[in-house]
Amino acid sequence: MPVKLTMKQMICATGAIIAGGALLVALGGAEAAGAGPREADNGAVTVTLPSPALGVRIVEARSPGRPLVLIDPGHGGQDPGATAVSGDISEKQLTLQLASELRDKLASDGRVRIAMTREDDRYLTLDQRSALARRLGASLYVSLHMDSAPNPLARGASVYSLSDVASDADAQRLAEAENSAAAGAGGSDGSVRAILSDLVLRSQMTSSANFAERLVRNSQGRLELRPQAHRFANFYVLRSAGVPAVLFEAGYISNVEDEAMLRSPEHRQRIVAALARAIEADVAARSVR
Ligand code: ZN
Repeated sequence: MPVKLTMKQMICATGAIIAGGALLVALGGAEAAGAGPREADNGAVTVTLPSPALGVRIVEARSPGRPLVLIDPGHGGQDPGATAVSGDISEKQLTLQLASELRDKLASDGRVRIAMTREDDRYLTLDQRSALARRLGASLYVSLHMDSAPNPLARGASVYSLSDVASDADAQRLAEAENSAAAGAGGSDGSVRAILSDLVLRSQMTSSANFAERLVRNSQGRLELRPQAHRFANFYVLRSAGVPAVLFEAGYISNVEDEAMLRSPEHRQRIVAALARAIEADVAARSVR
C-alpha cells in the first residue's frame, strides 16, 4: 500500500498547532523556507509543505474522516499550457477556474474532503503535484486540463488513466507533451520507483480506469465527448501519484466552439456536475469495500 498518514499520525510526526477550531500543520522546515502556515478558514486545515513554498488548504467534509480528493489545475506560473484559439486566454487560467468551481461544488455537497495543488497562478513541477497526492493520502487525484490540436475541428472532452502502453497515437502524443514538463523541471527524483510495488501500481491502474469509466458514463449525453472518451497512456504524473488518478481534458481550446463553451460559466457548471457526481460515487464505492 502507498504510505498513508492519518491526520493523527501527521500531527505526531510533525507537531501541530490547534487554534480556534483550525488546525495548522507544518512539515519539515517550511517556515524556515518562508512558507508559514496560511490563515485557515473556520474548520479548515492548512498543511504547509517545504520548499518551494506550497501552502495547501484542506476543505473539510460535513462529517469527519471522509476521503480526501486532490484537485490539480494543470499548468500554472511560467507554464501557461496551451493557448486558446482566440489568443487571449491560456489553459492554466481555465484549469484554475474549473478546479475552483469543482472544489466549491464538492465543498457544498460536503461528502469528501478537498485539497487543490494550487489555488493561484503558480508553477509546480509534476513531482510536487504527485508528492502532494501521496503525502495527503488522497483517495483520488484529478488533474484538469484543456486539449489542443493542429486540427481546428477537433473537439470534445476525454479522460485519461494510466497504462504502460498508450491506447492510441493521440494519447501517446498527449502523454509525451505532458511528461515533458517533468523533464524540463529536472525529471523524476527516483523516489517513486521505491515507493510503489508492482502490485500497488496494478491496483492503482484498475481503480483509476474504473473512475475514468464512471466519469465517462456520468458525462454521456451531458457533455460533448470525444469518440472513445476513456483513453490510456503512460502519464508521469498519474504514475507517480501513487493513488487512483486521472487526467481530465475538458475540451479543445484550439476549437472555437469548445473554447466558447469552456469560457461559459453555464457550460462549466455541467462539467463540474459530471465530475462531482463521478467523484462522490467513486470515493463512496471504494470506501465501503
Ligand atoms: Zn495540459
